[in-house]
Amino acid sequence: MRSERFKHQVVDSIPERLQVGTLYVTTDRDVAGHLCACGCGREVITPLSPTDWSITIDQHRATLDPSIGNWAFPCRSHYFIWDGEVIWAGNMSNKAIAQGRQRNKACKLSYYRQLNETPPMPQEHLRKPLPPLRRTRIQRLVAWWKRLFAR
Ligand SMILES: [Zn+2]
Repeated sequence: MRSERFKHQVVDSIPERLQVGTLYVTTDRDVAGHLCACGCGREVITPLSPTDWSITIDQHRATLDPSIGNWAFPCRSHYFIWDGEVIWAGNMSNKAIAQGRQRNKACKLSYYRQLNETPPMPQEHLRKPLPPLRRTRIQRLVAWWKRLFAR
């Protein structure tokens, strides 16, 4: 069954069996997990950090940023979770995926350049709070994506 909405649930750790349509977030805010929105039943575990995914919860609705691209799954689902709603991004070509990854990499590099830091290893920055710089950037990205995928 395809999920059109996700309700979020704060948990101590991601449970072994995930419920359809639930986006789990750890109390430490270091990882989120959900079942692929296409209904294939695969688990999507997203690390939360300044250079991975971020989650914003606004009036009980969760937004996960950036999009979820399950290229490694047979379904190759690509969607956004905005304000708890699933927005399907359609099938991206391999070329578009490669370009997206490239852009993401460039974005990460410029982010750390602005902070005057070298990118840390994933474990080291998992629990760091998001600096304000990243928040404004995400807000701009959110506005941009929303415009791009507005129907
Ligand atoms: Zn799927």
